[in-house]
Amino acid sequence: MDYTSIFGNLVAFLLGFSLIYSFKKIRKIGLPMKNQSDEALKWSAKEKSWSSGNDGRVDIMIVGAGVAGSALAYALGKDGWRVHVIERDLTQPDRVVGEFLQPGGYLKLIELDLQDCVSGIDAQEVFGVVFYKDGRSVKLPFPLENFPKGVSGRSFHNGRLIQKMRNKAASLPNVRFEEGTVTSLVKEKGIIKGVSYRTKVGQESTAYAPLTIVCDGGFSNLRRSLSSSKVEITTRSIGFVMENCDLPHPNYSYAVLSEKPMLFYPIGANEVRAAVMVNTTGEKIPSISSGEMANYLKTEVAPQVPPELRDAFIRTIDKGNIRTAANMSMPASPCPTPGGFLIGDALNVRHPYTGGGMTVAFSDVVLLRDLLRPLNNLSDPVAVCKYLESFHTLRKPMACSINSIAGLMLKVFFANDDDPSMKELKHVCFEYFCLGGIFGGGLVSILSGLHPSPLSLISHLIALPVFAVGRSLFPFPSPKRMRAAARLVMDAPGVASLVMGAEGIRETFFPWTLPAYYRGPPSY
Ligand SMILES: Cc1cc2nc3c(=O)[nH]c(=O)nc-3n(C[C@H](O)[C@H](O)[C@H](O)COP(=O)(O)OP(=O)(O)OC[C@H]3O[C@@H](n4cnc5c(N)ncnc54)[C@H](O)[C@@H]3O)c2cc1C
Repeated sequence: MDYTSIFGNLVAFLLGFSLIYSFKKIRKIGLPMKNQSDEALKWSAKEKSWSSGNDGRVDIMIVGAGVAGSALAYALGKDGWRVHVIERDLTQPDRVVGEFLQPGGYLKLIELDLQDCVSGIDAQEVFGVVFYKDGRSVKLPFPLENFPKGVSGRSFHNGRLIQKMRNKAASLPNVRFEEGTVTSLVKEKGIIKGVSYRTKVGQESTAYAPLTIVCDGGFSNLRRSLSSSKVEITTRSIGFVMENCDLPHPNYSYAVLSEKPMLFYPIGANEVRAAVMVNTTGEKIPSISSGEMANYLKTEVAPQVPPELRDAFIRTIDKGNIRTAANMSMPASPCPTPGGFLIGDALNVRHPYTGGGMTVAFSDVVLLRDLLRPLNNLSDPVAVCKYLESFHTLRKPMACSINSIAGLMLKVFFANDDDPSMKELKHVCFEYFCLGGIFGGGLVSILSGLHPSPLSLISHLIALPVFAVGRSLFPFPSPKRMRAAARLVMDAPGVASLVMGAEGIRETFFPWTLPAYYRGPPSY
């Protein structure tokens, strides 16, 4: 038996215990919600829409029709709420964000009846991820065996998905889209009553609704009164599309764990997205217009690109069309305010390396829709606000798992290689992925959103240092390797608690100690 198997057995025990425990917990939290929504479905759709008369008044105002806003508009409109959406730009977006949807996010699209929006946009199916480091690679499929046929990751042009969702939402008679820029929230006596906005033709206007849901994205300028979080720009993405280039493993995304971490995944039948991520703390991003960027990509980045992709990478640089985007992180710290609600990146942002943003956004949309289903109207904003506080606890299994794994990847894979303990941690993490099975495969099942569980993640965080110590002792211990392992054992809990602590230990692991967790719908 080699050292991997010995430590595998030990860790399997720890994992098995935690997985069974967390599975039970998820069932406890999840099942009542499901029954409640099925029950609500029977009566909600028609009655709610017309019960208070079709007098032109709206129930819910949505600010921003990006990934979260357009899905939410459809979900709430389908349930019969009268929805008014104000979006700054209703033309099809063209941006380098939100192109890879995890299979867990696709499951949420199905729950929202929006899965047809990834059809007819040249979306590609993705069945897993390949991690590559220093010439070695490991292929980890998503654990899709127990899911219906057709469930997998999807990658596409972000704007095409958004436009499809907008069109589907706009086809509902009780959903109205308007192009305009919301400038502020209208607040009276501590209650948000609606929004002030500039219409497409530049007129100042106001619109009112008993509930305003703000989903104006990561750069939100409206979240101030609804959240106390501060955005941190951690790294930057440099992206371009490589055409007619075959990935070494078709229908797999390719995560390159080099000094400058990179991602490659298909976004069309003949298009591969190349995204290079650079740490903004140590480096200034080169200028695209002066040609510095092209030079930087060829000289500093290309040597780290896996050889099978390097030619296509270099060839594409000269074609131009290089884009950059800021990668942010922001934990959710909502300030409950009657009449207002935050969702999507306006509420919570995580690093994009694990491609989890849309999965969290769709999961939050499902949850919010389900919470609103038992309500007949929203006429008491204070009671609705109190009731909706449970949203922030109920979202934790998905949000905390995906946020924390993204945070860990950021801390480990974007750390400076000059720090020997982080360099060793990087190496150990890759070796851990290479173990596959319940180890690397287990991590992939969490980051895919298929089995989101903060407790499973904790068991991996326990297993990692154990594995590191094992590696240092076998086949025979050396002082250098033992020193590195000892450093790792000391550093790993710090990294883990920093990342998971940001999610709120009580909300994540002890939700039943929070009064909001038990709150039922208001009866008025
Ligand atoms: C570089 C990068 C790569 C990413 N890659 C992935 C990935 O592969 N997979 C993944 O799941 N996630 C990814 N993400 C994250 C993902 O893009 C976001 O989580 C997702 O777009 C959030 O959706 P949203 O609706 O909150 O915001 P957005 O999709 O940004 O939508 C916000 C909308 O609000 C509108 N708006 C803004 N201000 C106003 C205003 N004042 N008035 C009216 N309208 C307004 C905007 O025009 C926009 O349409 C990535 C992020 C980055 C930065």
